[in-house]
Amino acid sequence: MYSLTYIKPDSIDKAASLLAESDEHKVVSGGMTLLPTLKQRLARVEKLIGLEDCGLNNIALNSGILTIGAMASHYDVSHSADINAKNPALVELASHIGDRQVRNRGTIGGSLANNDPSACYPAAVMALKGTILTTKREIEAEEFFVDLFETCLEEDEIIKSVSLLIPEAAAYEKFPNPASRYAMVGVFVAKFPSEIRVAVTGAGENGVYRCSEIEHALSNSFSADSLSDITLSAEGLMSDIHAEADYRAHLIVEMARRAVNKASSR
Ligand SMILES: Cc1cc2nc3c(=O)[nH]c(=O)nc-3n(C[C@H](O)[C@H](O)[C@H](O)COP(=O)(O)OP(=O)(O)OC[C@H]3O[C@@H](n4cnc5c(N)ncnc54)[C@H](O)[C@@H]3O)c2cc1C
Repeated sequence: MYSLTYIKPDSIDKAASLLAESDEHKVVSGGMTLLPTLKQRLARVEKLIGLEDCGLNNIALNSGILTIGAMASHYDVSHSADINAKNPALVELASHIGDRQVRNRGTIGGSLANNDPSACYPAAVMALKGTILTTKREIEAEEFFVDLFETCLEEDEIIKSVSLLIPEAAAYEKFPNPASRYAMVGVFVAKFPSEIRVAVTGAGENGVYRCSEIEHALSNSFSADSLSDITLSAEGLMSDIHAEADYRAHLIVEMARRAVNKASSR
């Protein structure tokens, strides 16, 4: 790791000003991704701006919208009674991220900003019509996630919170990589009064995406059986050391079936 200065501002405005001072400045939340990158000298920063004291930990429920502060850890989400009461799928998702250390340190803001193609939260945020509130604007999920490890965030923009709609029913199922627990394929299914939204992580060559074939089938009938005849094309899906694209195509349907069963049983 190259030497650097660590600063912990006590407000989000100060953090944003420090970040805007130089391209060599970066914010750190849980550090679960950024610190290993710095340790391996894959990245270099002059100033690291810690967001712990910026008051971004709130979890709030207002008029059918759940707002989660960017610094809420996976542990916070997995232990929130408010979230569990309105959307237990999110609690379950957070409680299966990585291991205890990752869940204690890793944050929802860091996860969204990092947009790892195998991360779990991007699927939830896409399926739950998420809106990301930053120091500059509000961004719809569909616009926010751009490509693998790429979002539409500007260099000097910080995520403050994410707002999610409360579904009638929802569930997340992932086929975890046995070593890291990241999703080899993860599917978040959300049922709203007027639409079904299904988002897939871990599989798309361009990162998280909505699967229209499965959404269409579930709109006709919200049951696992309605997915029995679906065979997805492997085109546009990743092949890597963990799984070939056609296997991922199979897993998407299977994870969706399991998610629908779980959502229906709640
Ligand atoms: C062993 C291991 C297993 C894991 N397993 C899973 C898993 O199963 N599922 C899963 O979803 N994830 C998994 N993760 C990822 C983990 O959950 C963290 O969410 C992820 O590392 C990023 O969150 P962080 O708070 O640690 O971000 P950091 O490491 O602090 O930051 C990551 C990046 O985001 C930027 N950033 C951080 N916060 C903000 C913000 N508020 N606004 C703008 N930019 C910001 C940083 O500058 C940096 O570029 C795993 C990680 C590890 C190390």
